[in-house]
Amino acid sequence: MKSTMMPVPLSLNHLLERAGTLFASNEIVSRLPDKSLKRHSFGDYYRRTRALAAALQGLGLQKGERVATLCWNHHAHLECYFGIPAAGGVMHTLNLRLSPDELGWIANDAQDRFLVIDDVLLPLYRQFAHLYKFEKVIVFPFSGAPVPAEFTDYEALLAGADPDAFRYAPHDENDPVAMCYTSGTTGRPKGVVYSHRSTVLHTLVASLGDFWGLRGTDVVLPVTPMFHANSWGMPYGAVMMGVKLVFPGPHLHPDDLLDLMQLEPPTLSLGVPTIWMSLIQTFDAAQNPDSPSHGRWKLPVGMRSLVGGAAVPEALIRAFDQHGIWILQGWGMTETSPVATVSYPKAELRNASMDERYRRAAMAGVPVPLVDLRVWGDDGTEQPWDGHSVGEVQVRGPFITGSYYPQEAAPRPPEGALPGLGRPGAGDHQVSVNPEKFTPDGWLRTGDVASVDAMGFVKITDRTKDLIKSGGEWISSVDLENALMAHPAVAEAAVIAMPDEKWGERPLACVVLKPGRSVAATDFGPHLLGHGFAKWQLPERYEFIDAVPRTSTGKFWKMKLRERFASKT
Ligand code: ADP
Repeated sequence: MKSTMMPVPLSLNHLLERAGTLFASNEIVSRLPDKSLKRHSFGDYYRRTRALAAALQGLGLQKGERVATLCWNHHAHLECYFGIPAAGGVMHTLNLRLSPDELGWIANDAQDRFLVIDDVLLPLYRQFAHLYKFEKVIVFPFSGAPVPAEFTDYEALLAGADPDAFRYAPHDENDPVAMCYTSGTTGRPKGVVYSHRSTVLHTLVASLGDFWGLRGTDVVLPVTPMFHANSWGMPYGAVMMGVKLVFPGPHLHPDDLLDLMQLEPPTLSLGVPTIWMSLIQTFDAAQNPDSPSHGRWKLPVGMRSLVGGAAVPEALIRAFDQHGIWILQGWGMTETSPVATVSYPKAELRNASMDERYRRAAMAGVPVPLVDLRVWGDDGTEQPWDGHSVGEVQVRGPFITGSYYPQEAAPRPPEGALPGLGRPGAGDHQVSVNPEKFTPDGWLRTGDVASVDAMGFVKITDRTKDLIKSGGEWISSVDLENALMAHPAVAEAAVIAMPDEKWGERPLACVVLKPGRSVAATDFGPHLLGHGFAKWQLPERYEFIDAVPRTSTGKFWKMKLRERFASKT
């Protein structure tokens, strides 16, 4: 017997059509480089996106070819999210915080054909232009200045295309739509390629009530960059539901974000913990009557805030809750589209105390539908969900990558500029299945170490490379950091392993104090003991630093701290 259902492929184009027909009057707001706000309707968005797709087809874009973007969060980047796949291409987001060398390497690896770039980022482009030659560089006049003559003007390109005459490229649901490179903290970055199918399924799952809970009346402020893990997939969900979007553009300083929240109060926002840490510190400092910003801001009470990408300290969750803002933690990675677990209040927690709710909210959460998750022990067996047994998190599912885009597929740079020729099309690359990243039975090895409790809550204790092994016992750097950040004088804390002759490794805590606060390192011992740590787990050494270095995606960059401190005795 066969199912009677239509074999209609899952497709991003369907989401775009919805946006154009159902939500035409809803708004998309973008903050421009001069901090003014530009407003578009979803109706404009729909026409402009189809015009972009028509223009790309007019330029000869073939199915599966890559179009890179090097852009901040704004409406034109959202046009690329749907316009490039609508034309049959693959949007490849380049991370503007990477070095010119890395950008050149990645563009070559992906064999990008065209580049769409903000005019304000042209100085960055000029630093890697000699490493890779795009066939065409399309410049979005974000600042409003005229586009230099040697480039193609994005607006002129759209104006010259007919959105009504556009026809979607024929496609299968497994065809690629987007590509992101992992940060490459271990070895060279690796390409992850998403399909129509994986993206639509991820969008549907992440939008569910207990996760993003997207409502048509929401106003969404995506602080997570659209150049990193697709802004966690929110652009797709926002277009699917036609929710109002407020894009911060290049203005991510806490003052600017707080200003934007006054102008366009969000009901839902998303960003990494470091962003929300600086936001609350800035807001709290402004409560001082002597502050020049006193009285300038109100926090948007009732806003839901999706925070992830790194462990979310319980102290941060409590601090925002005091202002009526609930932080919902998610865990995932570029390889997982990225939402794989979310810490939401399960029914069992209905009568739980607030302390218990905060504790749970500070965990990575429960696997979302369609994601299988297991914890694999050092002994080569699956660990029980008992809240204690730890091992590597492994995941599997229709929006989890099963391979990487192989570096080997791209020709290596000979000398000087590379012509972007001989690009492999979609589907004609060999799949690279790296045994370090995938198990023989087909699960993704995440490199994160965690336990899972009987309720299914995952608790990430570390990344494999951040683990501290002292006298044969593991110490969780994440737990120590959370407890240190609960200290009233501490703004930020990052704990790393330092080599130790006797114990192998011992924890070293790098601490950033809140402005105007002072504390002796000896005070931290009693504080940590009060948080349930055993004496042998306490940091051996404390270093007071001005700021924790950040990675290109705004997370704590422990490698830099290890370079600075862990080799010294
Ligand atoms: P990278 O940081 O290497 O660029 P991703 O942005 O894909 O790669 O980040 C994935 C990693 O971020 C995960 O493997 C995990 O270590 C960390 N991470 C993400 N969310 C959380 C979370 N809620 N708690 C702890 N770690 C997290």
